Amino acid sequence: MPNGARQAVSFKDVTLGYHRHPAVHHLTGSLDKGALTAIIGANGSGKSTLMKGITGMLKPMSGEIHIAPGETIAYLPQQSELDRHFPARVVDLVAMGLWNKRGLIGRHTGADRARIVAALETVGLSGFERRGIDTLSGGQLQRVLFARVLVQDASLILLDEPFSAIDAKTLSDLVDLITRWQEEGRTVAVVVHDLDLVRAHFPMAMLLARRLVAWDETRKVLAPRNLEQARDFQETWDEAAPWCHDDDHDPQGGIPHQHGADAEADRIAGNAP
Ligand code: ADP
Ligand code: MG
Repeated sequence: MPNGARQAVSFKDVTLGYHRHPAVHHLTGSLDKGALTAIIGANGSGKSTLMKGITGMLKPMSGEIHIAPGETIAYLPQQSELDRHFPARVVDLVAMGLWNKRGLIGRHTGADRARIVAALETVGLSGFERRGIDTLSGGQLQRVLFARVLVQDASLILLDEPFSAIDAKTLSDLVDLITRWQEEGRTVAVVVHDLDLVRAHFPMAMLLARRLVAWDETRKVLAPRNLEQARDFQETWDEAAPWCHDDDHDPQGGIPHQHGADAEADRIAGNAP
């Protein structure tokens, strides 16, 4: 990596949430340039929220997310957030990866078209250019989305559950692509559920349970003690136990926020102020 910051993204006591209800609390740390990181945690632990925070789609309620100057971001959203019935062709979806270079209605150059064709070839979908995205299998759609990331040629790549609902061959092809991106020096963060996959292919891991449980080398993060903590949190969540102890010293003076389970339980119990 050239000179400059070692971190691609740094988080300073970041709390992210919706309508004053935090989904990720008090996160501090950084994604080093060139790191390949798995983001893990139960459903609702804040993984997608964190990704939206990094892209800037969601502004922190408090704290700061700093993206190093010159970084460009490619983001693959969770499939549940995509409208599969949108009347678009494969080529249109991949071309969207070029919009920040060309504008949404900008004309694509011959070089752009060649890049789109090459990206589709890389993901094993040569000849699919004119297919409607509503005709694709889950695995094929995920390949198309990877082709879109490819044409973006970004330094920072964020993938939210790219391995859900795909076949084994697609899984192995997409893991190869991710490994290649890392070898090219890109910073890659991927939401993954399968811990065996995380162990096999991801050097770094971040374990979330609405707060950071662990963020380190994968082997350390997946220690039983951490996994238990993440699971315990999930259990205490149901019992509405308070668990955030950090708010007495919020240096950012951010928006005061209720704390997850308590707030939700209050709402359900009708105790909300
Ligand atoms: P994960 O990706 O780890 O499954 P999310 O980041 O999607 O979790 O969600 C974390 C919490 O934030 C959940 O309790 C979820 O219900 C809530 N949440 C997510 N998106 C929204 C939204 N748009 N509005 C309100 N709450 C949301
Ligand atoms: Mg999610």
